[in-house]
Order: sequence, then C-alpha cells, then structure tokens
Amino acid sequence: MQHLFPNGRLLRLVQGDITTLPADAICNAANSALRPGGGIDGSIHRAGGPAILHELDSIRKKNGACPPGSAVATTAGNLPARYVFHAVGPVYSGGGNSESQVLASCYRACLALADERKVQRISFPSISTGIYGYPLEEAAPVAIETVAEWLTENDTSVKEAIFVLFDEATRRAYERALADV
Ligand code: ADP
Repeated sequence: MQHLFPNGRLLRLVQGDITTLPADAICNAANSALRPGGGIDGSIHRAGGPAILHELDSIRKKNGACPPGSAVATTAGNLPARYVFHAVGPVYSGGGNSESQVLASCYRACLALADERKVQRISFPSISTGIYGYPLEEAAPVAIETVAEWLTENDTSVKEAIFVLFDEATRRAYERALADV
C-alpha cells in the first residue's frame, strides 16, 4: 500500500525485513544505552557488522546516553544503505506519560537527520511496538501521521519513506492508519 502526496513525495508500506531493503538511511529501534539489544536492533547489528557498534561506542563516550525521542546517526556497515539512524522509542507505560509525543519525536529526529544528509529514501520499522510494549493500534497512527506531515513539507530532501513491517498484524495496523491520511 502507498500514498502519493500532491508534492510527489511517497509514503509506502511493505512487509518484510528492514535489513534487506535498500535505502539511503535505515532507521533502527535502539535503546538509550546504544548497546546491542534484541528485536530489530539485534538484526541490524548482525547484518550490519561491527562497524556500527564501534561508532555507537564513540558516540556514547562523547555524548552519553541517547534519550527517548531522539536519534543518532552512524554509517551502515554491510547493510544496503549509507546510514543507520538509531532512534530510541518510549517504553509504553499506560499511554498517559507523553508516550505519543516521544514516539512522534523519534520519527522527526530521524527525518531531521535525513534532511541534514540529503537522504532521499528512508526506511522505518514500527518503533516501540515490540519489546517496548506500545500497542500497535495506538502507535501506527502516530507513526504514519508524523511521517506524512513531514513529507508534505516541500523543503525536505526525503522523496520516499517506507515503513518495513515485520509481520502481518503490524502491516495491517499501519494500512488502517494510512487509509485515514
Ligand atoms: P522496540 O524495543 O522499540 O519495541 P523491537 O525491536 O522489539 O523494538 O520491535 C519493533 C518492531 O520491529 C516490532 O514490530 C518487531 O516485530 C519489528 N522487527 C523486528 N525485527 C525486524 C526487522 N528485521 N525488520 C523490520 N522490523 C523488525
């Protein structure tokens, strides 16, 4: 499923493994410590190789932890991309603790990193809906609306944003959210 905006920008949804889809930048659902974790983070480090980890180590030494709602950029090692943007999503705790603002801020942080690097094609996972426990039906509209809003701005370098959704339930939730755009 996809949505073409009047300014020619494209938002696409695909089901699959984000480590195998070529893009200029691949976004990761990382953790504040910027240390290898499970889920998509584990897959990105396995497929990308040790270069990504070394860069994260030096970022951590220089700047400390990465707070929820923000993101840092590394090169992409062996992944089919130039960059990985490591975004730290909110851990869901009921929905009354600014989780939606923090989640939206993750996507915007990645898109800002993309614009700084003139990225045209960026891929996103469904941040926070795995180990971090964010309910899919709540997270999908936040993710879709935030990225859609960014794409309507003509001064973004991003021409195509792709959500790469790992399983069918996640893809369907994002399709419902995209249908409302
Ligand atoms: P978080 O800790 O932010 O919840 P997870 O990695 O646990 O992050 O899960 C985020 C989402 O990424 C989940 O929907 C999970 O199924 C999905 N996911 C896991 N591996 C991959 C992958 N290789 N490509 C795309 N999505 C993935």
